Amino acid sequence: MSLLLKASPELVKNYVRMFVNRRAYTVQSMKPRPESGRHYYYRPTEKVTGEPVLLNDETIRKHLEGKITIAHYAINPATQRCKWVAIDADYKDAMEDLLKLQYHLGQDGVEAALEMSKRGGHLWIILAQPVLARECRIYIHDLALRLGMRIKGAGLAEGIEVFPKHDELKAGEFGNAIRAPLGIHRGAKRRYWFYGADYTLEKQMDYLERLRKVTEDELHQFIDGKSISDEFTGRRRNCEPMQARVGSNGREFRILDHISSKLRKVGRNYMTQCPSCSEAGHDRGGDNLSIRIDDPRFYKCWAGCTKKMIRDAVGCPIRYPHSA
Ligand SMILES: [Zn+2]
Repeated sequence: MSLLLKASPELVKNYVRMFVNRRAYTVQSMKPRPESGRHYYYRPTEKVTGEPVLLNDETIRKHLEGKITIAHYAINPATQRCKWVAIDADYKDAMEDLLKLQYHLGQDGVEAALEMSKRGGHLWIILAQPVLARECRIYIHDLALRLGMRIKGAGLAEGIEVFPKHDELKAGEFGNAIRAPLGIHRGAKRRYWFYGADYTLEKQMDYLERLRKVTEDELHQFIDGKSISDEFTGRRRNCEPMQARVGSNGREFRILDHISSKLRKVGRNYMTQCPSCSEAGHDRGGDNLSIRIDDPRFYKCWAGCTKKMIRDAVGCPIRYPHSA
């Protein structure tokens, strides 16, 4: 059976209303990387200008029809609000945790939709109106911890991941991207549907439309008097080198000071997780960034992140000298 489907303009419009919260996005590569066999995500850019391509209805149509696969971001930086919350779990017993969450959300009158994934699944909560990312996170973190679930981050390598992963975005930040629902996973060469409806685009969208959506007022009641534990709120924001190297002024940027994931030697380079890809929820295999061993000032992300994106991701943006 062909993976390609047709998406009507109305279906596209409804999908955009439900899921699209900002126009930055990433695309999953059609071909796997030869070294790892994995499909990576990259931010598409205009051929001539190098400017980022912005998401529009046409992008969504192609995603739904199966011609491309995109990942999208939770937080709109202008408002710090989200249209949805997604909970990703891909460990052993992940489904059990997601079903447990779905049940307990239901007790609050929040109908969440469970989507299949390559391993485990994604649980989606579509909101009645955009709400503050911080408030979404307080609600889900509080519920998950009450249920005794582990949340990834804060020193835990395994656990649920909550999108949005940040309370707020600073200028130029994107937060983390997650595969947009109903598209084809290039690695698995198949579509992952929601369990709650027949496997057609129309039936799936009808199902999502019918879910009872949580309002901002309700959310405020759920999180009244609650806050998020400090360990989940911030990233390290320390741009000072650990120690000054002989021959440097002690202030130059050194990528290796900011890499916390495992380094592997491949030929003349280290391979490791790209901080920018990782921030976008990608490069789980940890091999998108190569750093020259003999001169770590040279580093490159295989998935196309620019130096600026990588510096932003490690919290040390490139500062250009002010012009007079
Ligand atoms: Zn990257």
